[in-house]
Amino acid sequence: MGYNMENFRKIREEYKEKYKKAEAEADARRRELWQTVDGLRDLDRALSMTATRLLNAVSGKSNESFEKVKADAERLNRERDILLAAYGYPSDYSDPRYECDICHDTGYAGEEICECMKRRLRLAGYESSGIARLMGEQRFDNFSLDYYKANARSYENMTYVFKTILEYANTFETEKAQNLLLLGGTGLGKTHLSTALAKTLIDRGYDVIYTGAIGMIADFEKHRFGNSAGSESGINLDRYYDCDLLIIDDLGSEVSNQFTVSTVYNVLNNRISLGLPTVVSTNLNQKELNDRYWDRITSRILGEFRPLLFSGSDVRKLKLSE
Ligand SMILES: [Zn+2]
Repeated sequence: MGYNMENFRKIREEYKEKYKKAEAEADARRRELWQTVDGLRDLDRALSMTATRLLNAVSGKSNESFEKVKADAERLNRERDILLAAYGYPSDYSDPRYECDICHDTGYAGEEICECMKRRLRLAGYESSGIARLMGEQRFDNFSLDYYKANARSYENMTYVFKTILEYANTFETEKAQNLLLLGGTGLGKTHLSTALAKTLIDRGYDVIYTGAIGMIADFEKHRFGNSAGSESGINLDRYYDCDLLIIDDLGSEVSNQFTVSTVYNVLNNRISLGLPTVVSTNLNQKELNDRYWDRITSRILGEFRPLLFSGSDVRKLKLSE
C-alpha cells in the first residue's frame, strides 16, 4: 500500500520549494538588515565564526575553552538583539519563517512523515480520487439507518450492509481485501457508503480511485481515440489497474457496446490477477448483469465479488418528503 506516488512526488517537490522559499526570504531580510543597521554585518560574521570556534574548542584544535566561546556567542547575540531593537526590528527578523514549526517545511519529523505533509497528501488523495466534493458530505458518521426503519427486514439487512462496509474500511489491507459488489436500486445509499469508504481509506493513506463507470470508460475512449499528440488528455490509465482500491460507481449506466464491455472486463480481470481489490456498485440485478455483459464477465464478477444487497425505499425521496 502507499500514497499515490504521483501525488507523493508532486508534494515532495512542493515542500522543497516551500523550504527554499523560506530560506531565500530569510536571506533577503538579512541583507536588508545589513544595509540598514550599522555594524550588523560584522556582528553576524563574528557570530557565524563562533560555530567554527565551538567545534575547534570541542575537538581540541584550539586553546579556547568551550565555555569561553559559548559566553562570547551569548554576548554577541545579546548585542545583536539590542542593536536590532534600536533600529526597530524584532530579534528574529531574519530567521526563516516556516509554515510548519515541527518539520520546518521539510515534510519530515525525524524519520516520520510530518502531520502537515500527511494532511497535504490526504487532500491530494481526495482530489485525485475524483470525489473531493462529495467527501465532506457523505461519511460513515452521517449515514442514517433511520430511513430504512419503515421495513423491519430492510432495516436489519441495511444494518448488516452498513456494518460490513464500515468494517471493510477499518480493516482494509490491499492484498487481503475482498472485492465487493453493491447491488440495489437508486437512492438506497450505495454512493454514500462507497464515498465514505473511499474517504476512510484515503485518510488511512491508501491510493483510491472513485469513478463512475461512464467516466472510466470515457477515459479509456479518449486514450484510444486520442489525437496523435498522444498523452495530451493527461489521463494515466495505469492508475485504474494499480491503485490500492478502485471503486466503480453505477456500472450499467454506460452505453453497452463491445468496447465498453471489454474495457470493464479488462480492468476487472487485470485487478483480479494482480490481487488488487475493486468495489463495484450497480442498479442492475443479476439477470440484467448477465444480459449486458454476457457470462464471460458476470461469471468472473459474481465468482470473485462478495455481493451486498441494498434494500429499502429510495432514501432520497424519503429525505425530500421530510
Ligand atoms: Zn510539518
